[in-house]
Amino acid sequence: MTSGHEQHPFKWTPGAEKRHATLAENRDHGTEVETLCGTTIVVDRGELAWFWFTCEPCNVAAHEIAGVPMPGDRPVTVEGETVGAR
Ligand SMILES: [Zn+2]
Repeated sequence: MTSGHEQHPFKWTPGAEKRHATLAENRDHGTEVETLCGTTIVVDRGELAWFWFTCEPCNVAAHEIAGVPMPGDRPVTVEGETVGAR
């Protein structure tokens, strides 16, 4: 695989009051998707959804998939997404 803009297979997806990462292709509002942390969530694209905290197990799994080491306490930007911020 060559590097491109969409090099990571997962997508950050809001649901269950957190931002989870999922490999699911259909991430429409109201769709059930399996997340990287092993939970099934219903996608919630409400106005406040993008302000929810990142799901920590998904964050760790996403870093593993992306081949990016977990940061110390610095925010890290991957593909335009801040994934390491607390
Ligand atoms: Zn999660």
